[in-house]
Amino acid sequence: AALFDGEQPKDPRAILKQVYGYDAFRGKQAAVIERVVAGGDAVVLFPTGAGKSLCFQIPALAREGVGIVVSPLIALMRDQVEALKQLGVRAAALNSSLSPEEYSEVRRSIADGTLDLLYVTPERITTAGFKELIRSTKIALFAIDEAHCVSQWGHDFRPEYRELGHLAEMYPGVPRLALTATADPHTREDIIDKLALRSAEVFTTSFDRPNIAYEIVECDQPRQQLLRFLSRHKGSSGIVYCLSRAKVEETAEWLNGQDIRALAYHAGMDRSVRDTNQDAFLKEEDLCLVATVAFGMGIDKPNVRYVAHLDLPGSVEAYYQETGRAGRDGLPSDVWMAYGMADVIQRGRMIDGGQSSEDIKRVERAKLNALLAICETPGCRRQSILAHFGEAHPGACGNCDTCLKPVETWDGSEAAIKALAAIYRTGERFGTGHLIDVLLGNENEKTSRFGHVEMPVFGAGKDLPSKTWQSVYRQLLAAGLVTVDHEAFGALKLGPEARAVFRREREVRFRKDRPTSAKASRGASS
Ligand code: ADP
Ligand code: ZN
Repeated sequence: AALFDGEQPKDPRAILKQVYGYDAFRGKQAAVIERVVAGGDAVVLFPTGAGKSLCFQIPALAREGVGIVVSPLIALMRDQVEALKQLGVRAAALNSSLSPEEYSEVRRSIADGTLDLLYVTPERITTAGFKELIRSTKIALFAIDEAHCVSQWGHDFRPEYRELGHLAEMYPGVPRLALTATADPHTREDIIDKLALRSAEVFTTSFDRPNIAYEIVECDQPRQQLLRFLSRHKGSSGIVYCLSRAKVEETAEWLNGQDIRALAYHAGMDRSVRDTNQDAFLKEEDLCLVATVAFGMGIDKPNVRYVAHLDLPGSVEAYYQETGRAGRDGLPSDVWMAYGMADVIQRGRMIDGGQSSEDIKRVERAKLNALLAICETPGCRRQSILAHFGEAHPGACGNCDTCLKPVETWDGSEAAIKALAAIYRTGERFGTGHLIDVLLGNENEKTSRFGHVEMPVFGAGKDLPSKTWQSVYRQLLAAGLVTVDHEAFGALKLGPEARAVFRREREVRFRKDRPTSAKASRGASS
Protein backbone atom coordinates (compact mmCIF):
# COMPACT_ATOMS: atom_id res chain seq x y z
CA ALA A 1 0.00 0.00 0.00
CA ALA A 2 0.92 3.64 -0.47
CA LEU A 3 2.41 4.11 2.93
CA PHE A 4 4.16 0.81 3.05
CA ASP A 5 7.82 1.76 3.01
CA GLY A 6 9.01 -1.54 1.63
CA GLU A 7 10.66 -2.80 4.77
CA GLN A 8 8.31 -2.79 7.70
CA PRO A 9 4.66 -2.00 8.14
CA LYS A 10 4.16 1.69 8.67
CA ASP A 11 3.09 2.91 12.08
CA PRO A 12 -0.73 2.86 12.32
CA ARG A 13 -0.85 5.95 14.48
CA ALA A 14 1.14 7.90 11.91
CA ILE A 15 -1.32 6.80 9.22
CA LEU A 16 -4.24 7.81 11.42
CA LYS A 17 -2.85 11.32 11.72
CA GLN A 18 -1.40 11.67 8.24
CA VAL A 19 -4.28 10.26 6.18
CA TYR A 20 -7.34 10.83 8.34
CA GLY A 21 -6.22 13.74 10.48
CA TYR A 22 -7.29 12.06 13.73
CA ASP A 23 -5.16 12.16 16.85
CA ALA A 24 -6.16 9.02 18.67
CA PHE A 25 -7.75 5.65 18.11
CA ARG A 26 -11.14 5.01 19.56
CA GLY A 27 -11.99 2.11 21.83
CA LYS A 28 -10.48 -1.11 20.56
CA GLN A 29 -9.50 0.16 17.11
CA ALA A 30 -5.81 0.13 18.04
CA ALA A 31 -5.96 -3.45 19.27
CA VAL A 32 -7.70 -4.70 16.12
CA ILE A 33 -5.28 -2.85 13.87
CA GLU A 34 -2.25 -4.12 15.73
CA ARG A 35 -3.44 -7.70 15.39
CA VAL A 36 -4.20 -7.48 11.68
CA VAL A 37 -1.03 -5.57 10.82
CA ALA A 38 0.85 -8.41 12.46
CA GLY A 39 -0.95 -10.88 10.20
CA GLY A 40 -3.66 -12.19 12.54
CA ASP A 41 -7.36 -12.68 11.84
CA ALA A 42 -10.04 -10.67 13.64
CA VAL A 43 -13.77 -10.61 14.17
CA VAL A 44 -14.87 -7.05 14.89
CA LEU A 45 -18.27 -6.61 16.52
CA PHE A 46 -18.73 -2.89 17.09
CA PRO A 47 -21.97 -1.00 16.96
CA THR A 48 -22.67 1.34 14.08
CA GLY A 49 -20.64 4.51 14.23
CA ALA A 50 -17.90 3.01 16.38
CA GLY A 51 -15.39 3.27 13.53
CA LYS A 52 -15.10 -0.16 11.99
CA SER A 53 -13.81 1.10 8.63
CA LEU A 54 -10.47 2.23 10.02
CA CYS A 55 -9.98 -1.24 11.44
CA PHE A 56 -9.32 -2.58 7.96
CA GLN A 57 -8.34 0.54 6.05
CA ILE A 58 -5.34 1.33 8.23
CA PRO A 59 -3.91 -2.21 8.21
CA ALA A 60 -4.38 -2.25 4.43
CA LEU A 61 -2.32 0.93 4.20
CA ALA A 62 0.26 -0.32 6.67
CA ARG A 63 0.85 -3.70 5.05
CA GLU A 64 2.35 -4.54 1.72
CA GLY A 65 -0.12 -5.13 -1.08
CA VAL A 66 -3.76 -4.32 -1.74
CA GLY A 67 -6.48 -4.68 0.88
CA ILE A 68 -9.54 -6.40 -0.55
CA VAL A 69 -12.85 -5.40 0.99
CA VAL A 70 -16.01 -7.42 0.49
CA SER A 71 -19.10 -5.26 0.71
CA PRO A 72 -22.66 -6.23 -0.13
CA LEU A 73 -23.99 -2.92 -1.39
CA ILE A 74 -22.70 -1.15 -4.44
CA ALA A 75 -23.91 2.22 -3.13
CA LEU A 76 -21.97 1.75 0.10
CA MET A 77 -18.88 0.79 -1.86
CA ARG A 78 -19.09 3.84 -4.00
CA ASP A 79 -19.38 6.14 -0.98
CA GLN A 80 -16.41 4.59 0.76
CA VAL A 81 -14.26 4.68 -2.35
CA GLU A 82 -15.11 8.33 -2.94
CA ALA A 83 -14.32 9.22 0.66
CA LEU A 84 -10.98 7.39 0.47
CA LYS A 85 -10.00 9.11 -2.76
CA GLN A 86 -10.68 12.44 -1.09
CA LEU A 87 -8.15 11.45 1.53
CA GLY A 88 -5.60 10.59 -1.12
CA VAL A 89 -5.94 6.83 -0.71
CA ARG A 90 -5.80 4.83 -3.93
CA ALA A 91 -9.11 3.00 -3.78
CA ALA A 92 -11.35 1.41 -6.38
CA ALA A 93 -14.47 -0.70 -6.58
CA LEU A 94 -15.12 -3.62 -8.91
CA ASN A 95 -18.79 -4.03 -9.61
CA SER A 96 -21.26 -4.40 -12.40
CA SER A 97 -21.81 -0.66 -12.68
CA LEU A 98 -18.30 -0.03 -14.10
CA SER A 99 -17.87 0.91 -17.73
CA PRO A 100 -15.39 -1.21 -19.76
CA GLU A 101 -12.87 1.66 -19.59
CA GLU A 102 -13.18 1.97 -15.84
CA TYR A 103 -12.84 -1.76 -15.55
CA SER A 104 -9.58 -1.88 -17.50
CA GLU A 105 -8.22 0.97 -15.45
CA VAL A 106 -8.90 -0.91 -12.22
CA ARG A 107 -7.35 -3.98 -13.80
CA ARG A 108 -4.24 -2.09 -14.71
CA SER A 109 -3.80 -0.63 -11.23
CA ILE A 110 -4.13 -4.09 -9.74
CA ALA A 111 -1.49 -5.44 -12.09
CA ASP A 112 0.81 -2.49 -11.39
CA GLY A 113 0.36 -2.88 -7.65
CA THR A 114 -0.69 0.76 -7.34
CA LEU A 115 -3.90 0.17 -5.43
CA ASP A 116 -4.33 0.42 -1.66
CA LEU A 117 -7.91 -0.78 -1.32
CA LEU A 118 -10.14 -2.72 -3.67
CA TYR A 119 -13.86 -3.11 -2.93
CA VAL A 120 -15.68 -6.08 -4.43
CA THR A 121 -19.05 -7.77 -4.09
CA PRO A 122 -19.27 -11.20 -2.45
CA GLU A 123 -20.52 -12.70 -5.72
CA ARG A 124 -17.39 -11.65 -7.55
CA ILE A 125 -14.61 -12.41 -5.13
CA THR A 126 -14.83 -16.18 -5.35
CA THR A 127 -15.07 -16.30 -9.15
CA ALA A 128 -12.28 -17.75 -11.29
CA GLY A 129 -12.07 -14.43 -13.14
CA PHE A 130 -11.33 -12.51 -9.97
CA LYS A 131 -8.83 -15.08 -8.81
CA GLU A 132 -7.04 -14.68 -12.10
CA LEU A 133 -7.15 -10.91 -11.81
CA ILE A 134 -5.33 -10.85 -8.50
CA ARG A 135 -3.16 -13.89 -9.14
CA SER A 136 0.16 -12.12 -9.19
CA THR A 137 -0.75 -9.30 -6.81
CA LYS A 138 0.32 -9.12 -3.20
CA ILE A 139 -2.73 -9.06 -0.93
CA ALA A 140 -2.51 -7.11 2.32
CA LEU A 141 -5.72 -8.48 3.84
CA PHE A 142 -9.33 -9.47 3.25
CA ALA A 143 -12.00 -7.49 5.05
CA ILE A 144 -15.51 -8.90 5.06
CA ASP A 145 -17.84 -6.04 5.87
CA GLU A 146 -21.44 -6.56 7.05
CA ALA A 147 -20.33 -10.07 8.00
CA HIS A 148 -23.70 -10.85 9.62
CA CYS A 149 -24.95 -11.43 6.07
CA VAL A 150 -23.40 -14.91 6.33
CA SER A 151 -25.89 -15.88 9.02
CA GLN A 152 -29.50 -16.82 8.74
CA TRP A 153 -29.82 -15.33 12.18
CA GLY A 154 -28.82 -11.94 10.87
CA HIS A 155 -31.52 -9.76 9.43
CA ASP A 156 -29.91 -9.72 6.05
CA PHE A 157 -28.87 -13.22 5.06
CA ARG A 158 -27.03 -13.47 1.74
CA PRO A 159 -26.16 -16.95 0.50
CA GLU A 160 -23.13 -15.61 -1.45
CA TYR A 161 -21.46 -14.86 1.86
CA ARG A 162 -21.17 -18.57 2.56
CA GLU A 163 -18.64 -18.86 -0.26
CA LEU A 164 -16.33 -16.46 1.56
CA GLY A 165 -15.42 -19.29 3.91
CA HIS A 166 -13.15 -20.53 1.10
CA LEU A 167 -10.93 -17.46 1.21
CA ALA A 168 -8.93 -19.08 4.02
CA GLU A 169 -7.80 -22.00 1.88
CA MET A 170 -7.62 -20.02 -1.38
CA TYR A 171 -5.29 -17.43 0.10
CA PRO A 172 -3.45 -18.96 3.03
CA GLY A 173 -1.44 -16.54 5.10
CA VAL A 174 -3.49 -13.49 4.21
CA PRO A 175 -5.08 -11.98 7.32
CA ARG A 176 -8.85 -11.78 7.33
CA LEU A 177 -11.25 -9.58 9.28
CA ALA A 178 -15.00 -9.93 9.55
CA LEU A 179 -16.84 -6.82 10.67
CA THR A 180 -20.43 -6.24 11.69
CA ALA A 181 -22.65 -4.23 13.98
CA THR A 182 -24.76 -7.30 14.73
CA ALA A 183 -23.43 -9.35 17.57
CA ASP A 184 -26.01 -11.63 19.07
CA PRO A 185 -24.45 -14.96 20.07
CA HIS A 186 -26.05 -16.90 17.18
CA THR A 187 -24.79 -14.54 14.52
CA ARG A 188 -21.37 -14.40 16.12
CA GLU A 189 -21.07 -18.19 16.10
CA ASP A 190 -22.19 -18.32 12.49
CA ILE A 191 -19.60 -15.74 11.44
CA ILE A 192 -16.79 -17.60 13.14
CA ASP A 193 -17.97 -20.95 11.81
CA LYS A 194 -19.07 -20.13 8.28
CA LEU A 195 -16.20 -17.77 7.55
CA ALA A 196 -13.60 -20.16 8.99
CA LEU A 197 -12.43 -17.69 11.62
CA ARG A 198 -11.94 -20.05 14.53
CA SER A 199 -8.44 -18.77 15.18
CA ALA A 200 -9.47 -15.14 14.92
CA GLU A 201 -9.45 -12.86 17.91
CA VAL A 202 -12.92 -11.50 18.64
CA PHE A 203 -13.16 -7.81 19.48
CA THR A 204 -16.37 -6.44 20.95
CA THR A 205 -17.45 -3.22 22.55
CA SER A 206 -20.61 -2.52 24.39
CA PHE A 207 -23.69 -2.19 22.24
CA ASP A 208 -25.30 0.14 24.69
CA ARG A 209 -26.37 3.47 23.25
CA PRO A 210 -26.93 5.36 26.48
CA ASN A 211 -28.14 8.54 24.79
CA ILE A 212 -31.06 6.74 23.14
CA ALA A 213 -34.29 6.64 25.16
CA TYR A 214 -36.47 3.65 24.32
CA GLU A 215 -40.24 3.68 24.36
CA ILE A 216 -42.64 1.01 23.12
CA VAL A 217 -46.36 1.58 23.33
CA GLU A 218 -49.43 -0.44 22.70
CA CYS A 219 -50.98 0.66 19.46
CA ASP A 220 -54.55 1.87 19.59
CA GLN A 221 -54.80 4.98 17.45
CA PRO A 222 -51.41 4.78 15.75
CA ARG A 223 -51.60 8.07 13.84
CA GLN A 224 -52.66 10.11 16.85
CA GLN A 225 -50.03 8.39 18.96
CA LEU A 226 -47.39 9.14 16.34
CA LEU A 227 -48.47 12.74 16.17
CA ARG A 228 -48.09 13.14 19.92
CA PHE A 229 -44.63 11.59 19.75
CA LEU A 230 -43.60 13.89 16.90
CA SER A 231 -44.96 16.94 18.68
CA ARG A 232 -42.19 16.42 21.24
CA HIS A 233 -39.65 16.84 18.46
CA LYS A 234 -40.63 20.04 16.71
CA GLY A 235 -37.62 21.59 15.03
CA SER A 236 -35.58 18.43 14.68
CA SER A 237 -35.25 15.68 12.11
CA GLY A 238 -36.06 12.03 12.42
CA ILE A 239 -37.22 8.89 10.69
CA VAL A 240 -40.59 7.14 10.78
CA TYR A 241 -40.37 3.53 9.61
CA CYS A 242 -43.33 1.74 8.03
CA LEU A 243 -43.49 -1.74 6.60
CA SER A 244 -45.12 -1.08 3.25
CA ARG A 245 -44.57 1.44 0.49
CA ALA A 246 -48.24 2.36 0.50
CA LYS A 247 -48.18 3.07 4.21
CA VAL A 248 -45.05 5.21 3.79
CA GLU A 249 -46.82 7.38 1.24
CA GLU A 250 -50.10 7.62 3.13
CA THR A 251 -48.34 8.45 6.38
CA ALA A 252 -46.14 11.14 4.81
CA GLU A 253 -49.14 12.74 3.17
CA TRP A 254 -51.14 12.64 6.37
CA LEU A 255 -48.32 14.18 8.41
CA ASN A 256 -48.04 17.06 5.96
CA GLY A 257 -51.73 17.66 6.49
CA GLN A 258 -50.97 17.82 10.22
CA ASP A 259 -48.39 20.55 9.82
CA ILE A 260 -45.40 18.26 10.07
CA ARG A 261 -43.02 18.50 7.16
CA ALA A 262 -42.61 14.96 5.94
CA LEU A 263 -41.06 13.33 2.89
CA ALA A 264 -41.40 9.75 1.73
CA TYR A 265 -38.66 7.28 0.88
CA HIS A 266 -38.99 3.74 -0.44
CA ALA A 267 -37.43 1.56 -3.09
CA GLY A 268 -40.43 1.78 -5.40
CA MET A 269 -40.11 5.54 -5.87
CA ASP A 270 -38.62 7.24 -8.82
CA ARG A 271 -34.88 7.32 -8.27
CA SER A 272 -34.53 11.07 -8.66
CA VAL A 273 -37.34 11.83 -6.19
CA ARG A 274 -35.88 9.40 -3.75
CA ASP A 275 -32.43 10.96 -3.99
CA THR A 276 -33.87 14.44 -3.62
CA ASN A 277 -35.74 13.41 -0.49
CA GLN A 278 -32.68 11.74 0.95
CA ASP A 279 -30.54 14.80 0.30
CA ALA A 280 -33.14 17.04 1.90
CA PHE A 281 -33.15 14.81 4.94
CA LEU A 282 -29.36 14.83 5.20
CA LYS A 283 -29.22 18.61 4.99
CA GLU A 284 -32.25 19.84 6.86
CA GLU A 285 -32.90 20.15 10.55
CA ASP A 286 -36.66 20.01 10.69
CA LEU A 287 -37.81 17.20 8.49
CA CYS A 288 -39.54 13.92 9.06
CA LEU A 289 -38.53 11.18 6.65
CA VAL A 290 -41.16 8.45 6.38
CA ALA A 291 -39.43 5.39 4.99
CA THR A 292 -39.33 1.66 4.53
CA VAL A 293 -36.23 -0.17 5.71
CA ALA A 294 -34.78 0.51 2.26
CA PHE A 295 -33.64 3.75 3.88
CA GLY A 296 -30.76 3.85 6.25
CA MET A 297 -27.91 1.51 5.42
CA GLY A 298 -24.83 3.63 5.01
CA ILE A 299 -26.61 6.87 5.86
CA ASP A 300 -24.48 8.98 8.15
CA LYS A 301 -26.55 11.81 9.58
CA PRO A 302 -25.30 12.49 13.08
CA ASN A 303 -28.24 14.53 14.37
CA VAL A 304 -31.20 12.24 13.76
CA ARG A 305 -33.14 13.10 16.93
CA TYR A 306 -35.82 10.42 16.78
CA VAL A 307 -36.75 7.16 15.12
CA ALA A 308 -40.35 5.96 15.20
CA HIS A 309 -41.68 2.57 14.16
CA LEU A 310 -45.29 2.27 13.07
CA ASP A 311 -44.76 -1.41 12.34
CA LEU A 312 -42.73 -4.08 14.05
CA PRO A 313 -39.29 -4.62 12.56
CA GLY A 314 -38.41 -8.18 11.60
CA SER A 315 -36.11 -8.87 14.53
CA VAL A 316 -34.32 -7.38 17.50
CA GLU A 317 -31.25 -6.91 15.28
CA ALA A 318 -33.25 -4.91 12.79
CA TYR A 319 -34.83 -2.89 15.60
CA TYR A 320 -31.41 -2.16 17.05
CA GLN A 321 -29.98 -1.12 13.67
CA GLU A 322 -32.92 1.06 12.77
CA THR A 323 -33.19 2.77 16.14
CA GLY A 324 -29.39 3.05 16.15
CA ARG A 325 -29.63 5.66 13.41
CA ALA A 326 -30.79 8.10 16.07
CA GLY A 327 -28.29 10.10 18.07
CA ARG A 328 -25.00 9.26 16.40
CA ASP A 329 -23.75 12.60 17.71
CA GLY A 330 -24.18 11.29 21.24
CA LEU A 331 -26.91 13.79 22.16
CA PRO A 332 -30.18 12.65 23.75
CA SER A 333 -32.49 11.05 21.20
CA ASP A 334 -35.81 9.27 21.40
CA VAL A 335 -36.94 6.09 19.75
CA TRP A 336 -40.52 5.02 19.84
CA MET A 337 -42.54 2.12 18.54
CA ALA A 338 -46.25 1.39 18.48
CA TYR A 339 -47.32 -2.18 18.04
CA GLY A 340 -50.33 -4.37 18.59
CA MET A 341 -51.59 -7.89 18.17
CA ALA A 342 -52.60 -7.27 14.57
CA ASP A 343 -48.97 -6.44 13.81
CA VAL A 344 -47.80 -9.68 15.31
CA ILE A 345 -50.33 -11.71 13.37
CA GLN A 346 -49.48 -9.94 10.13
CA ARG A 347 -45.76 -10.47 10.68
CA GLY A 348 -46.27 -14.13 11.39
CA ARG A 349 -48.41 -14.49 8.31
CA MET A 350 -45.67 -12.94 6.19
CA ILE A 351 -43.17 -15.42 7.57
CA ASP A 352 -45.42 -18.44 7.12
CA GLY A 353 -46.59 -17.41 3.69
CA GLY A 354 -43.04 -16.72 2.47
CA GLN A 355 -40.97 -18.82 0.12
CA SER A 356 -38.33 -19.75 2.68
CA SER A 357 -37.61 -23.26 3.85
CA GLU A 358 -39.17 -24.56 7.05
CA ASP A 359 -35.83 -24.08 8.86
CA ILE A 360 -35.61 -20.43 7.98
CA LYS A 361 -39.24 -19.92 8.91
CA ARG A 362 -38.57 -21.37 12.32
CA VAL A 363 -35.66 -18.98 12.79
CA GLU A 364 -37.81 -16.05 11.71
CA ARG A 365 -40.56 -16.97 14.11
CA ALA A 366 -38.03 -17.21 16.92
CA LYS A 367 -36.72 -13.77 15.99
CA LEU A 368 -40.19 -12.30 16.02
CA ASN A 369 -40.81 -13.79 19.45
CA ALA A 370 -37.55 -12.35 20.78
CA LEU A 371 -38.68 -8.91 19.68
CA LEU A 372 -42.11 -9.45 21.14
CA ALA A 373 -40.56 -10.37 24.47
CA ILE A 374 -38.79 -6.99 24.51
CA CYS A 375 -42.06 -5.23 23.68
CA GLU A 376 -43.86 -6.97 26.51
CA THR A 377 -41.18 -6.90 29.17
CA PRO A 378 -42.13 -5.24 32.44
CA GLY A 379 -38.39 -4.71 33.02
CA CYS A 380 -35.85 -2.28 31.59
CA ARG A 381 -35.96 -2.19 27.77
CA ARG A 382 -32.25 -1.51 27.50
CA GLN A 383 -31.46 -4.47 29.68
CA SER A 384 -33.52 -6.83 27.54
CA ILE A 385 -32.15 -5.45 24.27
CA LEU A 386 -28.57 -5.82 25.46
CA ALA A 387 -29.31 -9.26 26.89
CA HIS A 388 -30.34 -10.26 23.39
CA PHE A 389 -26.83 -9.38 22.21
CA GLY A 390 -25.35 -11.42 25.01
CA GLU A 391 -24.43 -8.36 27.03
CA ALA A 392 -25.25 -7.95 30.71
CA HIS A 393 -26.55 -4.60 31.89
CA PRO A 394 -27.15 -3.84 35.54
CA GLY A 395 -30.72 -2.86 34.69
CA ALA A 396 -32.89 0.12 35.47
CA CYS A 397 -31.13 2.33 32.94
CA GLY A 398 -33.35 5.25 33.85
CA ASN A 399 -33.69 6.13 30.17
CA CYS A 400 -36.47 3.92 28.86
CA ASP A 401 -40.22 3.99 29.33
CA THR A 402 -40.35 1.08 31.73
CA CYS A 403 -37.61 2.59 33.92
CA LEU A 404 -39.10 6.05 33.89
CA LYS A 405 -42.62 4.85 34.56
CA PRO A 406 -42.31 1.38 36.03
CA VAL A 407 -45.08 -0.88 34.83
CA GLU A 408 -47.12 -2.59 37.43
CA THR A 409 -47.57 -6.30 37.15
CA TRP A 410 -50.41 -8.46 38.33
CA ASP A 411 -50.80 -12.12 39.14
CA GLY A 412 -52.29 -13.42 35.94
CA SER A 413 -52.39 -17.13 36.70
CA GLU A 414 -56.18 -17.18 36.91
CA ALA A 415 -56.63 -15.06 33.79
CA ALA A 416 -54.06 -17.10 31.90
CA ILE A 417 -55.92 -20.31 32.67
CA LYS A 418 -59.18 -18.79 31.40
CA ALA A 419 -57.53 -17.42 28.27
CA LEU A 420 -55.87 -20.74 27.53
CA ALA A 421 -59.06 -22.65 28.30
CA ALA A 422 -60.95 -20.52 25.78
CA ILE A 423 -58.43 -21.57 23.14
CA TYR A 424 -58.47 -25.22 24.12
CA ARG A 425 -62.24 -25.61 24.52
CA THR A 426 -62.98 -24.02 21.16
CA GLY A 427 -60.59 -26.39 19.43
CA GLU A 428 -57.57 -24.12 18.79
CA ARG A 429 -59.28 -22.77 15.68
CA PHE A 430 -60.04 -19.14 16.53
CA GLY A 431 -58.29 -15.80 16.71
CA THR A 432 -58.21 -13.33 19.60
CA GLY A 433 -61.36 -11.44 18.57
CA HIS A 434 -63.56 -14.50 18.81
CA LEU A 435 -61.81 -15.85 21.92
CA ILE A 436 -62.44 -12.58 23.70
CA ASP A 437 -66.12 -12.70 22.69
CA VAL A 438 -66.26 -16.13 24.26
CA LEU A 439 -64.57 -14.97 27.47
CA LEU A 440 -66.82 -11.93 27.74
CA GLY A 441 -69.93 -13.95 26.99
CA ASN A 442 -70.85 -11.96 23.90
CA GLU A 443 -73.69 -13.71 22.15
CA ASN A 444 -73.36 -13.15 18.44
CA GLU A 445 -73.78 -15.06 15.21
CA LYS A 446 -70.41 -16.74 15.46
CA THR A 447 -70.44 -17.69 19.13
CA SER A 448 -73.94 -19.12 18.67
CA ARG A 449 -73.25 -20.96 15.44
CA PHE A 450 -70.29 -22.82 16.90
CA GLY A 451 -72.17 -23.63 20.07
CA HIS A 452 -69.67 -21.70 22.17
CA VAL A 453 -72.44 -20.04 24.17
CA GLU A 454 -73.12 -23.42 25.78
CA MET A 455 -69.58 -23.87 27.09
CA PRO A 456 -68.56 -23.29 30.72
CA VAL A 457 -65.81 -20.94 29.52
CA PHE A 458 -68.43 -18.69 27.86
CA GLY A 459 -68.57 -15.51 29.93
CA ALA A 460 -65.89 -16.77 32.30
CA GLY A 461 -63.85 -13.63 31.70
CA LYS A 462 -66.49 -11.01 32.35
CA ASP A 463 -64.47 -9.69 35.28
CA LEU A 464 -61.90 -8.14 32.93
CA PRO A 465 -62.41 -5.72 30.04
CA SER A 466 -61.77 -6.64 26.43
CA LYS A 467 -58.58 -4.56 26.32
CA THR A 468 -57.08 -6.50 29.19
CA TRP A 469 -57.82 -9.77 27.42
CA GLN A 470 -56.05 -8.47 24.34
CA SER A 471 -53.07 -7.67 26.46
CA VAL A 472 -53.26 -11.10 28.10
CA TYR A 473 -53.16 -12.84 24.74
CA ARG A 474 -50.26 -10.70 23.53
CA GLN A 475 -48.26 -11.49 26.62
CA LEU A 476 -49.09 -15.19 26.45
CA LEU A 477 -47.79 -15.08 22.90
CA ALA A 478 -44.63 -13.23 23.92
CA ALA A 479 -44.06 -15.82 26.63
CA GLY A 480 -44.50 -18.66 24.15
CA LEU A 481 -47.50 -20.04 26.05
CA VAL A 482 -49.58 -19.47 22.96
CA THR A 483 -48.63 -19.78 19.29
CA VAL A 484 -50.32 -18.50 16.18
CA ASP A 485 -51.46 -20.88 13.47
CA HIS A 486 -51.11 -18.85 10.32
CA GLU A 487 -52.43 -21.57 8.07
CA ALA A 488 -55.66 -21.16 10.01
CA PHE A 489 -55.81 -17.38 9.61
CA GLY A 490 -54.24 -16.46 12.90
CA ALA A 491 -55.97 -19.02 15.11
CA LEU A 492 -54.31 -19.29 18.50
CA LYS A 493 -52.98 -22.61 19.71
CA LEU A 494 -51.52 -23.71 23.00
CA GLY A 495 -47.76 -23.62 23.32
CA PRO A 496 -45.87 -26.55 24.84
CA GLU A 497 -45.61 -24.85 28.24
CA ALA A 498 -49.33 -24.12 28.54
CA ARG A 499 -49.90 -27.37 30.37
CA ALA A 500 -47.77 -26.17 33.32
CA VAL A 501 -50.05 -23.14 33.66
CA PHE A 502 -53.18 -25.31 33.70
CA ARG A 503 -51.60 -27.46 36.38
CA ARG A 504 -50.69 -24.33 38.34
CA GLU A 505 -47.07 -25.37 38.22
CA ARG A 506 -46.20 -22.11 36.60
CA GLU A 507 -47.12 -18.71 37.93
CA VAL A 508 -47.91 -16.07 35.33
CA ARG A 509 -47.42 -12.35 35.89
CA PHE A 510 -48.65 -9.84 33.37
CA ARG A 511 -47.69 -6.24 32.92
CA LYS A 512 -50.52 -3.85 33.46
CA ASP A 513 -51.14 -1.83 30.36
CA ARG A 514 -50.81 1.85 30.97
CA PRO A 515 -53.76 3.97 30.15
CA THR A 516 -52.89 5.20 26.67
CA SER A 517 -51.94 8.84 26.44
CA ALA A 518 -55.04 9.45 24.34
CA LYS A 519 -57.25 8.44 27.19
CA ALA A 520 -55.07 10.12 29.77
CA SER A 521 -55.32 13.44 27.97
CA ARG A 522 -59.01 13.02 27.28
CA GLY A 523 -59.49 12.25 30.93
CA ALA A 524 -57.55 15.34 31.92
CA SER A 525 -59.61 17.66 29.75
CA SER A 526 -62.98 16.35 30.85
P1 ADP B 1 -18.94 2.05 11.49
O1 ADP B 1 -18.50 1.44 10.19
O2 ADP B 1 -18.48 1.29 12.68
O3 ADP B 1 -20.41 2.36 11.54
P2 ADP B 1 -17.37 4.25 10.56
O4 ADP B 1 -16.13 3.50 10.24
O5 ADP B 1 -18.23 4.68 9.44
O6 ADP B 1 -18.23 3.47 11.63
O7 ADP B 1 -16.94 5.50 11.45
C1 ADP B 1 -17.89 6.39 11.95
C2 ADP B 1 -17.32 7.79 11.97
O8 ADP B 1 -16.34 7.92 13.00
C3 ADP B 1 -16.63 8.19 10.69
O9 ADP B 1 -17.00 9.50 10.38
C4 ADP B 1 -15.16 8.07 11.02
O10 ADP B 1 -14.36 8.91 10.23
C5 ADP B 1 -15.14 8.47 12.48
N1 ADP B 1 -13.99 7.89 13.19
C6 ADP B 1 -13.60 6.59 13.17
N2 ADP B 1 -12.51 6.40 13.93
C7 ADP B 1 -12.19 7.60 14.46
C8 ADP B 1 -11.15 8.06 15.35
N3 ADP B 1 -10.22 7.23 15.84
N4 ADP B 1 -11.14 9.36 15.67
C9 ADP B 1 -12.08 10.20 15.17
N5 ADP B 1 -13.08 9.84 14.33
C10 ADP B 1 -13.13 8.55 13.98
ZN1 ZN C 1 -34.42 1.15 31.31
